[in-house]
Amino acid sequence: MSAKDQPRAKPKLATCSLAGCFGCHMSLLDIDERIVELVELVDLDKSPLDDKKAFDGMVDIGLVEGGCANEHNVHVLRDFRAHCRILVSVGACAITGGIPAMRNLVSLRECLEEAYLNGPTVEDGGMIPNDEDLPLLLDRVYPSHEFVKIDYLLPGCPPSADAIWAALKALLTGHEPKLPYGLLKYE
Ligand code: SF4
Repeated sequence: MSAKDQPRAKPKLATCSLAGCFGCHMSLLDIDERIVELVELVDLDKSPLDDKKAFDGMVDIGLVEGGCANEHNVHVLRDFRAHCRILVSVGACAITGGIPAMRNLVSLRECLEEAYLNGPTVEDGGMIPNDEDLPLLLDRVYPSHEFVKIDYLLPGCPPSADAIWAALKALLTGHEPKLPYGLLKYE
């Protein structure tokens, strides 16, 4: 078989969840039967959806859910940037820090003390966890674009399945994602 007759490799898709709730991943799965078309269009690489832990070379599109609350999030995000030709911030947490960024209203010290020492559910005096295996918390929760270049922003909490599908399909077929107003309007 000549190189010309070889079946063309499918584009590769990777996803990750940083400081988020997995709701954006759930919304991706809400594309329902279109998932069959998605599987025909792409090969899934590193993602919580296939539990693949490492990249298999470069991927074409990476979807990032969640902002950066700790140093592990930053490490994962930088690794994604290094492996993804197109990187998309999906959802409010990735784009602005979202709900986790509500902790930015107080200092990290106050936040930890309220959670582990002074909160109403704390028993026996409490203790702030300091195991060396725990990733260090950042001083505040940051949106993804403050650490790496992001190519596209897909807003929503979460973006609807229709919005994710429209953006993905456009990118996978080599088009600029131009989502209609109805997919970007929130009430
Ligand atoms: Fe969850 Fe909303 Fe954040 Fe997505 S944007 S991870 S749905 S809280």
